[in-house]
Amino acid sequence: MLNYYTDLDNDLSADVEAMEDAITTMKRLYALAEEAKIGSTIRCPTCGRAIVKTTYHKKFSSTKCKDRYWNLVDDKRRARAIAMGGRK
Ligand SMILES: [Zn+2]
Repeated sequence: MLNYYTDLDNDLSADVEAMEDAITTMKRLYALAEEAKIGSTIRCPTCGRAIVKTTYHKKFSSTKCKDRYWNLVDDKRRARAIAMGGRK
């Protein structure tokens, strides 16, 4: 039983780390998309698809990707709060 919980704990830590890596990459792509000039090719921070920046505020390939990006950032905050709260 104790081993089960230890393993579960390790798996959760790995997930949080993997998620942090993914979100770091997404944030970098977001910053690049933000700085890119209109008409240049950017990468959607969420799905990585190459898209042409057609308007000043365009940063995502779709509204779905935009929503997903912000949801993931929020999830990360929640995951970190849980991880820190569970640490002894
Ligand atoms: Zn996308």
